[in-house]
Amino acid sequence: MADRYMNLDTLRFILFEVLEGDKLNQYERFADYDRASVDILIDSVKAFADKELYPYFKEMDEKPAHFTDGQVLVHPQIKEIIAKGAELGLIGSGFEYEIGGMQLPTVYNYALVHILDCANNHATGYGGLTTGAANLIRVYGSDELKEKYIPKMIAGEWGGTMALTEPQAGSSLSDLTTEATPRDDGSYDISGQKIFISGGDHQFCDNFIHLTLARIKGAPAGTKGISLFVVPKKRIADDGSLQSNDVVTAADFPKMGQKGYCTTHLIYGENGNCQGWMVGDPNQGLKYMFRMMNEARISVGCGAASMATAAYYASLQYAKERPQGRKINRKGVKDVSSDPVLIIEHPDVRRMLLLQKSIVEGALSLILEASKLSDLHTVAEGTDSEEAHLLLELLTPIVKSYPAEMGKVSIDNGLQILGGYGFTEDFILQQYYRDIRITSLYEGTTGIQALDLLGRKVPMQNGAAMQLFAREVSKTIEEAKKLELRESASELTHRMEQVTETTGKLLQYAAAGEYDHFLADATVYLDFFSTFVVGWQWLKMACRAKEALLSGDGAFSTDFYESKLHTMRFYYKYELSKMTSLAEVLVDEQSLTVDSFRAEILG
Ligand SMILES: Cc1cc2nc3c(=O)[nH]c(=O)nc-3n(C[C@H](O)[C@H](O)[C@H](O)COP(=O)(O)OP(=O)(O)OC[C@H]3O[C@@H](n4cnc5c(N)ncnc54)[C@H](O)[C@@H]3O)c2cc1C
Repeated sequence: MADRYMNLDTLRFILFEVLEGDKLNQYERFADYDRASVDILIDSVKAFADKELYPYFKEMDEKPAHFTDGQVLVHPQIKEIIAKGAELGLIGSGFEYEIGGMQLPTVYNYALVHILDCANNHATGYGGLTTGAANLIRVYGSDELKEKYIPKMIAGEWGGTMALTEPQAGSSLSDLTTEATPRDDGSYDISGQKIFISGGDHQFCDNFIHLTLARIKGAPAGTKGISLFVVPKKRIADDGSLQSNDVVTAADFPKMGQKGYCTTHLIYGENGNCQGWMVGDPNQGLKYMFRMMNEARISVGCGAASMATAAYYASLQYAKERPQGRKINRKGVKDVSSDPVLIIEHPDVRRMLLLQKSIVEGALSLILEASKLSDLHTVAEGTDSEEAHLLLELLTPIVKSYPAEMGKVSIDNGLQILGGYGFTEDFILQQYYRDIRITSLYEGTTGIQALDLLGRKVPMQNGAAMQLFAREVSKTIEEAKKLELRESASELTHRMEQVTETTGKLLQYAAAGEYDHFLADATVYLDFFSTFVVGWQWLKMACRAKEALLSGDGAFSTDFYESKLHTMRFYYKYELSKMTSLAEVLVDEQSLTVDSFRAEILG
């Protein structure tokens, strides 16, 4: 295990200097959060992560969650983590004071989640999903549901889940068949099964509240007939005691990574005695779930960026300690009588380290930017709120999938730095390599995020989100020009033109009704556009770093700010340049996966 798993200075730099998060306290809801109070919160969560999460990271992989005698058993430390997390107020942190929350801005919430995810990504989902489930009840549920469930959930006594997936309905939720039959008392009989339900059952919570998507008998086919229900594992009797609600855990899926985080198979109503209570109105379930999805997708992106961050610090430490090979002198020879150098001296190793740093810090900046947009959507008024929402909608598929996809690349490079040792269980890189793999799959696969971006978000409201995004990028470019960052500003201008041109060409397919063609390379487009979006984030960070260097009154050291500028330049040279080849693929009229494709080609 490495001595260090994250960088608090970088986190604070993005929060306070790049995003000016402390200005959020001008809004009444967030009035209590000035910089000093957030600093205290960050320090206390870091201390919690150091003591209760990080030391158990490896052990949770070695002693995974498992299913024995009809029960899911998770690592004993999960009990402590849930209890202390709830005590720190982390489960309901964003909720109103009146219902036991802290009214913490989302941007700070994700800063805290980042610390926890860096320390131990196996443990954070238990609280995170409980937050998501309680939030659905908070926003759409009746007062009765709120009173009954939210207090116990945010106290960590009851767990919460999001139960969507069924064996035949993964990406395509319109195919789900879990059924809800109305009862005379206004509740519903629920029957069906859900698979892959994270945090769905274990020995340390008295009850589990499954926010379950189901179809009311006779409801329209497809997504228009899906409703949302609260289905507790145990229902609350009139005297307050808990009774079985006929939700049976049939299994826990053994997995390649994130093994401490249980993934359950739930059977509802096998004995005809499973009761559920509808949240909101009938047939609106998927709409409710999707409104919450923005949060869940930021959460997955945050998890991926955090795993890759922790992996970066592990490989950086190794590179600073491992002697191997010698430098070539000016005559082109190696002096074998000299001591070997540390591998960080080799440019190729430095390239891999800089690649990791540029990915993980770029991803973190994007995640926190999106979180702040979510806050502005909630608290700002009029156009400010609408624009924040529009931009967040556009960026969400990228916030979810860039950290997942490029986080894998980042960890892969980290593992490479360890040479053969990276492949062994003696070192932690292989665990991060396995753990991050899930983030491209759950909460909508990368392919599904790509379809959402190109098929829905780019064309929505006649391209209004894209136009708004272009205006935001222009503001950063103008600022960069004033701060002696002309070269990078002009590079980003050129790349923005590439985005506009390529997107325009693709939209012509949609206008001509050639949707197969339009969406065939949506994942390539996601890669292309994401690379640009993170380039924009790097220029934003570079502006603040340059400003601090010019004024000499930044909160961090000169080395710190120079490292941001250097990493930005690295990203522009090695990553942003990839956009040209991706654009070439995207505008090529030949479509090898649509027009001339026959199944036999793969034989
Ligand atoms: C560890 C783990 C935890 C999970 N936690 C939860 C949870 O808490 N709650 C929950 O409800 N679910 C959960 N899931 C389920 C997860 O969200 C689904 O596995 C995921 O949405 C993909 O569905 P699927 O596995 O059925 O794959 P499929 O939908 O069968 O997809 C297979 C492949 O086909 C592609 N594909 C599918 N449809 C299309 C299309 N229309 N166009 C282009 N490509 C397409 C996909 O991108 C993918 O590459 C979890 C899964 C795992 C493995």
